Amino acid sequence: MERKAFDYAPATVADCVAAAERFAAAGNDWHNHVLKPDCLLNPHPGLYGLVIENTTTGEILAYFDKINPIAEEKYIVELRHGKNITQSAGSDGGDAAKTAEPALLGHARALTDEGADWHHHMLMPGCIFNPNPGRYTITLEKSGGGAVLDSHISDDEPDAVLREVEHLFFTKEGVG
Ligand SMILES: [Zn+2]
Ligand SMILES: [Zn+2]
Repeated sequence: MERKAFDYAPATVADCVAAAERFAAAGNDWHNHVLKPDCLLNPHPGLYGLVIENTTTGEILAYFDKINPIAEEKYIVELRHGKNITQSAGSDGGDAAKTAEPALLGHARALTDEGADWHHHMLMPGCIFNPNPGRYTITLEKSGGGAVLDSHISDDEPDAVLREVEHLFFTKEGVG
């Protein structure tokens, strides 16, 4: 996976939030990307990025600036996947999501435990960044690592895995 330029409509964080709400209300197939300043997918290294991608209409909006819109990102992720997505299944006595923990999740936990800065990407089947079109891909990057550290690829939407990863991520980011 390499940094690549892509076409998008420049947007403010408020524009991104409004677009996400509009796409959700319209029932469109859409998703977002959190692009850290050193993210391999970020076409503007050094800036924080927030991308809203509508695979129904082909619209892509993107914010790039120095301010980290982490709270809005959490809101948008919850809008897309449901409020539970940022809560560990273990925290609400949910199902046995951890019984067959995939390697990527263990990897993310290990990075968190060692205090490393990391982030992930949920790449939907129609996503412009997905190296496995038609399938779901979750990638894990360690800050400054220069390469994707791990990938979890599946045919079904990996809700249980994503939920644990999002929980770890937003907790680490201080908005868990
Ligand atoms: Zn990244
Ligand atoms: Zn995408």
